[in-house]
Amino acid sequence: MASNNSQPLQGMTDICAPEVFLWQQLESVARSVFDLYGFCEIRTPVLERTEVFTHSIGDDTDIVQKEMYTFEDRGGRSLTMRPEGTAGVVRYLSGVGQEARDARVFYIGPMYRAERPQAGRKRQFHQCGVEMVGEANPVLDAECIALQLQLLEAWGLTDCSVQVNTRGQAGETGAIAEQLKAELEPERENLCEDCRRRMDANVLRVLDCKNPACGAIVEKLPPITEFMSDESSEYFENVVAALQDLGLSPEVNPRLVRGLDYYNHTVWEITHKALGAQDALAGGGRYTIGKGKNELSGVGFAIGMERVMMALEAKGVAGEDYAGGLDVWLVSMGEAAMAANFKLEQKLRAAGVSCNMDLNGRSMKAQMRAANRADAKFVVIRGESEMERGILLLKDMDSGEQTEERPDTLVARLRS
Ligand code: AMP
Repeated sequence: MASNNSQPLQGMTDICAPEVFLWQQLESVARSVFDLYGFCEIRTPVLERTEVFTHSIGDDTDIVQKEMYTFEDRGGRSLTMRPEGTAGVVRYLSGVGQEARDARVFYIGPMYRAERPQAGRKRQFHQCGVEMVGEANPVLDAECIALQLQLLEAWGLTDCSVQVNTRGQAGETGAIAEQLKAELEPERENLCEDCRRRMDANVLRVLDCKNPACGAIVEKLPPITEFMSDESSEYFENVVAALQDLGLSPEVNPRLVRGLDYYNHTVWEITHKALGAQDALAGGGRYTIGKGKNELSGVGFAIGMERVMMALEAKGVAGEDYAGGLDVWLVSMGEAAMAANFKLEQKLRAAGVSCNMDLNGRSMKAQMRAANRADAKFVVIRGESEMERGILLLKDMDSGEQTEERPDTLVARLRS
């Protein structure tokens, strides 16, 4: 049987040329958009103590219940591969005191969830996200959404849909849950098995259950804002108004709650129609994480990079569009030419000219094929007669034009 050793683990992907060119392009665009908003990059470890996630994401969430890659290290400590970015960033920020007060950070990196792999759902996937530390303020929430949409637009995704909702301020969660439970109690037997469990553990999640029977029951409930204080409803109205002031038109979806416990006030989700069943491109929300002097409030978002790639591919954008070819490929016929080209190659690189060459003495034809594969703009050719005459041939691969050049003026010639 053929060996499968060259394959990565199920649900994980090797990202290489040509796709990797698109990844690099998107990452570079993201960095320049984050610069516009005064954000600084943060790179937290991929591996954390398990409680970093269980204490913030919440024990009764899908992520903590069934999706975390958790194991014991040699000392018996429980460790987890990060399933999302916020918990680690907040762990860091809650330890730096005053410095974190108005922190604005972004991250781009891999996340791990032990989910059933399917189209658009992977076990290692990448998120690009931000965290904006700050007390609850509708304008900050609106700025966060505006940044996210500007980033998606800069990537070429102008046709995204934004849905927003509120979960009420942090202190109200218990009261909201109680009222919601009381409303749902007469229908308990008609809810799916998961929702009957959620009724007691995490009743808000009944609202976004995908089961049609549960959906029909939830449809008849009053909007969630009816269960919260005027202050919380007003906060949400101000978020929507601030977005409208910026010319954005989010759809209010009273069923949107998002899967993580740390959210309060504003939550949102961004979808794209090209994605099919897994149409969530990105999410975000306001949160309070930690207790006492470690408590931190902020607002943030995370965008699924693989889904961005899928949406762009549906628009015909491909990695090849961003492939950057070499400046020069050096072709050598004979040992003396190869040695001279090897030295020249290092000189060219030191001068900022990208180049490469064959070191195995292959035929002229094979070397020219390699130059084409590397998408070289120019080819330098040297054989015995060029060596004797102290010149080299420079071929422009676009026009096919070939000129004689001197090695010591080659860099200047390439720059002209
Ligand atoms: P979440 O942290 O669950 O709110 O996810 C934020 C975004 O990450 C989603 O909108 C997806 O685009 C992406 N995402 C989440 N889980 C996965 C996964 N298993 N595979 C690929 N992308 C994912």
